[in-house]
Amino acid sequence: MNTKIIFLLNKQIGIFTSIENSLFYRNDVLTKEQRSYNMSQISGKNTNPEVRLRKLLSSKGIKGYRIHSKLEGKPDMVFTKQKIAVFIDGCFWHRCPKCYVEPKTNKKFWSNKIEGNVKRDKRINNNLKKEGWYVIRFWEHDIKNDKINNCYEKLFNKLNEVGCLI
Ligand SMILES: [Zn+2]
Repeated sequence: MNTKIIFLLNKQIGIFTSIENSLFYRNDVLTKEQRSYNMSQISGKNTNPEVRLRKLLSSKGIKGYRIHSKLEGKPDMVFTKQKIAVFIDGCFWHRCPKCYVEPKTNKKFWSNKIEGNVKRDKRINNNLKKEGWYVIRFWEHDIKNDKINNCYEKLFNKLNEVGCLI
């Protein structure tokens, strides 16, 4: 084979390899959590865990909460009358002690980003508490499995304690 053709073939293969690598790379930098987060953002505001919890509450006859609240930190559910704010924290974005895995690439970027989120959560909790709100935070992983019942109980007990269930 003539050297020019070999060169061109190598060049083509080189291009294909680099396209493949960049696709692989792009795919690889997103963790499973990020991907599902991205998907949830694409499919709208109702991420799966929220819908799951809301369905359970609805099956128990619990109503009277607001979603898309403008309250600081945008809680997933707000019981305005009872002043209870409920957050469902994504395990990746809020650094769940059980599930969080540090991304392999851009470590510095991610650690700053996630650290910022965790600090923000604390600040929001404090501010809401100062304004008389009771803050409940559930982990996404608990909502996604049977632990959702424990979450429900915690919320139910609080609503009961406040004494104005529904
Ligand atoms: Zn988790």
